[in-house]
Amino acid sequence: MIRCYIGLGSNLEDPRGQVSRALQELEQIPQSQLVTASSLYRSDPVGPPGQPDYINAVACLDSALEPYALLDQLQAIEQAHQRVRKIHWGPRTLDLDLLLYGDQIIASERLTVPHAFMKERSFVLWPLAEIAPQLRLPDGSDLQRLLAQCPMGTLQQIPV
Ligand code: ATP
Ligand code: MG
Ligand code: MG
Repeated sequence: MIRCYIGLGSNLEDPRGQVSRALQELEQIPQSQLVTASSLYRSDPVGPPGQPDYINAVACLDSALEPYALLDQLQAIEQAHQRVRKIHWGPRTLDLDLLLYGDQIIASERLTVPHAFMKERSFVLWPLAEIAPQLRLPDGSDLQRLLAQCPMGTLQQIPV
């Protein structure tokens, strides 16, 4: 089993419901086990202006699937949430990004791991730190140090 971290985001059609259901769907991925999930966070949209706020979370999944098979599973869940890709960084019902796949570094057209922007996104780093405070990235960077450089700002943890 490889320890993986998945970033979840939604800003359309009941974002909290989308993310909560997606967490349950992660439990159904074959050859994998959902270890834990962060609480939900509200974040300001990135990309084109005028979008609704986002709900984000990060999940920890142990998986025996190889990275592309896991990405297939994540994209199938996105599709099941009627995700339509229109504009880059536009609003979406569900985004599932593979943040980390063990300590592997992958750079292909279809898959970049660690996720290309995770080190600068508060809505990734803070939920990640909630479930894996001691984490180090494959390049040796320390999550606590990254947090110090990426303040919570307007990111809000949603009380359960
Ligand atoms: P961002 O990558 O900035 O978060 P996004 O999540 O909106 O943007 P998507 O439209 O969800 O981008 O995905 C575009 C493509 O990114 C996908 O088709 C997928 O093949 C590719 N991709 C590359 N690396 C990853 C990754 N680590 N996790 C998920 N998709 C990835
Ligand atoms: Mg994304
Ligand atoms: Mg994505």
